[in-house]
Amino acid sequence: TLELRGLAKSFGRTPVLAGLDLAVADGELVVLVGPSGCGKSTLLRLVAGLEDATAGDILLDGRSVIDVPAADRGAAMVFQSYALYPHQTVYGNLAFPLKMARRPRAELDAKVRAVAALLNIDGLLDRLPRELSGGQRQRVAMGRAMIREPRLFLFDEPLSNLDVELRVRMRLEIGRLQRELGVTTLYVTHDQTEAMTLADRIVVLRAGNVEQIGTPMEVYHQPATRFVAGFMGTPP
Ligand code: ATP
Ligand code: MG
Repeated sequence: TLELRGLAKSFGRTPVLAGLDLAVADGELVVLVGPSGCGKSTLLRLVAGLEDATAGDILLDGRSVIDVPAADRGAAMVFQSYALYPHQTVYGNLAFPLKMARRPRAELDAKVRAVAALLNIDGLLDRLPRELSGGQRQRVAMGRAMIREPRLFLFDEPLSNLDVELRVRMRLEIGRLQRELGVTTLYVTHDQTEAMTLADRIVVLRAGNVEQIGTPMEVYHQPATRFVAGFMGTPP
């Protein structure tokens, strides 16, 4: 489980997150939605350890990780601008996190091949990123995030740069993978369909506060506030 307790963040004197409480069960996929600037990316960066909280605590399996450096938190983050290393092959890109962790060559090779097979990119291992389609690149980025067997997946609008058809395919793929691997996941999106179809629960944020937490059906059919109704597109 991932637990956020009174998690707060300010930049200078500007509060961005106002003391957020959230518990995410093992293997659960929680989608974060809310207007631009409401603090979604900041929340993921705090959980990943890329940013320090102003107050509050983050617990993984009951233990505080607030002082644990990013590299040791076991979180894998996937962004919309999934930067791959341009001069390295797909193989090199996938292997990179394990190389950094100084894993033995045989383990590295086995894991790269397993992840590549899972993501259907095993035929592309010798290619360079510029020789791949957008969706293939996105798969490599996903593979690189998965290869260290993270305890947490943090997705920040991972599909927003893809065309509609690819977005749908990758959405199904992410859903399938996440369930298959059972990795606890926070997923930020602006896409209503993504939120409704992928989420076990949806968190609606507004200016750094939680407006509502519920299943997609609850949030859509029983919006707690007019803001949630407006944001989720609930018919009046
Ligand atoms: P979007 O949907 O546009 O991606 P978001 O919900 O992800 O928005 P954040 O990126 O978390 O929003 O930003 C929340 C607020 O914090 C914004 O007002 C932003 O300008 C501010 N902010 C984010 N990072 C910094 C920073 N490093 N320094 C100062 N302010 C920041
Ligand atoms: Mg953002």
